Amino acid sequence: MAGPDTAPPRDFIRAVVGDDVAQGRVTEVVTRFPPEPNGYLHIGHAKSICLNFGVAREFGGRCHLRFDDTNPTKEEQAFIDAIIEDVRWLGFDWGRHLYHASDYFETLYQWAEHLIDKGMAYVDDLTADQIRAYRGTLTEPGRPSPHCGRGGDENLDLFRRMRAGEFADGAKVLRARIDMASGNINMRDPVLYRILHAPHPRTGDKWCIYPTYDFAHGQSDAIEGVTHSICTLEFEDHRPLYDWLVANLPVPSRPRQYEFARLNITHTVLSKRRLTQLVEGGHVAGWDDPRLPTLAGMRRRGFPAAAIRDFCARIGVTKSDSVVEVGLLEHCARELLNKTAPRRMAVLRPLKVVIENYPEGDGELLEAVNNPEDSSAGTRKVPFGREIFIEAEDFMEDPPKKFFRLAPGREVRLRYAYFITCTGVIKDKAGSVRELRCSYDPATRGGNAPDGRKVKATLHWVSAADAMPAEVRLYEHLFTKPDPGGDDFLADLNPNSLEVLKDCRLEPALSNAGAGETVQFERLGYFIPDAESRPGRPVFNRTVGLRDTWAKVRGQK
Ligand code: ATP
Ligand code: MG
Repeated sequence: MAGPDTAPPRDFIRAVVGDDVAQGRVTEVVTRFPPEPNGYLHIGHAKSICLNFGVAREFGGRCHLRFDDTNPTKEEQAFIDAIIEDVRWLGFDWGRHLYHASDYFETLYQWAEHLIDKGMAYVDDLTADQIRAYRGTLTEPGRPSPHCGRGGDENLDLFRRMRAGEFADGAKVLRARIDMASGNINMRDPVLYRILHAPHPRTGDKWCIYPTYDFAHGQSDAIEGVTHSICTLEFEDHRPLYDWLVANLPVPSRPRQYEFARLNITHTVLSKRRLTQLVEGGHVAGWDDPRLPTLAGMRRRGFPAAAIRDFCARIGVTKSDSVVEVGLLEHCARELLNKTAPRRMAVLRPLKVVIENYPEGDGELLEAVNNPEDSSAGTRKVPFGREIFIEAEDFMEDPPKKFFRLAPGREVRLRYAYFITCTGVIKDKAGSVRELRCSYDPATRGGNAPDGRKVKATLHWVSAADAMPAEVRLYEHLFTKPDPGGDDFLADLNPNSLEVLKDCRLEPALSNAGAGETVQFERLGYFIPDAESRPGRPVFNRTVGLRDTWAKVRGQK
């Protein structure tokens, strides 16, 4: 497994598992990550993946990847493929333990007949709406269905005919016979099978009845020998049903379910239903849009997998719901990238500077440090010449007091190069600054004055003759509000979440930036080449800026 990650702190799940191992109740710890292939994985899933795979690794056990593919109308092979890619990318390996709930359809069917034989399940003709109405509420008990008294033979016959395709979708269901007056609604004769005449990505037309999550999940755990079935809190109320099924079926093992709080993050949504709405409604460019909290989007945005694992370790695992600031995620990325990302120079909004006393036609290569945090990263040569580009916002003709960068008559440092002084401003008819004239001091080569004089600013720059044009995409939070609200969450979309800059200039070393390699553009942030790059026309995504407001806020506390 990838990464020299430190083991996360001991949480209540690890305490339970550790205790089971210490007491000899469990010899090999087996967990599973059970995604439903109806969308892409997001950072919330990463929390579950890190927990399940992490616990298995720490206790010398194994973690299965199991697709919970029981709802063929919403599931697709493309999602299965994307999920496999994302879990691998995150750094986890299930070895040969790749499973699908659909692998167990025949066994599950036999176990449903077993419940019917024991008088613990019956076929119901009520519609979905009627079942809901009969089920009662939190304060009122449910009422038994008029069909709950059906005898075993009749139930078996009807269930077999459901499987044979004799009935239309929704005409009948199989329900467990438990307790319509139970205080737990999940125990009021829950549905185990429904009719769905829909082809399945893996079983094709073989089945027209499909098990529900409740019937498939625990039994799949039992078949696989899962010892600790870890899920999110919304399944806490399903646990009595989970235990009831395991207790009443001839399952080969007795898994136990534990629940932890799901991850929520500010300024984004982590529900597959909402993510699907964003993608299908065209509000983002696809499941891997760099603004999305999907793993595919975050990978494209340049978040290293190790930073995501670090984030998951830091947020920990508890039983109380909370919302984590997106700033923490960005902080984790910055902290890692600061150590690993090569530094480069790029100008996002170029302003041309002509250095009038630099000999025309001349040029030179100046030495630049690749990573001040990592001396083994070495140095590189950056071309310099008479014409360069600086960042437009690094010049002001009439600077206010606290603006220390370039201005008429003022001297600044060009990083790794020379001190320059602004000697002239060329404007267009509209009065906008088009170009600057400067002089340089040849004695300051490398960026220091031999006479010890200081300047207040150091600017990044690129040589005009050598720079490579590029497109750069900047991202802001996808939602303006920290908690994009309810059904109307689309109203909270940030109209400025994407800014595309089409006339950027990069230092030549960036033409070799490999796919997947995040670099730091000095003073601007961390950037990664996008898959939409073309030869001679790179496209870069900004992962995060350099300013770490999160660290600042925390530091003051
Ligand atoms: P959603 O509610 O967004 O549709 P889901 O729970 O239906 O997500 P699954 O594919 O069923 O999505 O999830 C697979 C596993 O990931 C489950 O065990 C689920 O509990 C866990 N999971 C999903 N979302 C989160 C989250 N935000 N935080 C932690 N774990 C999560
Ligand atoms: Mg689910």
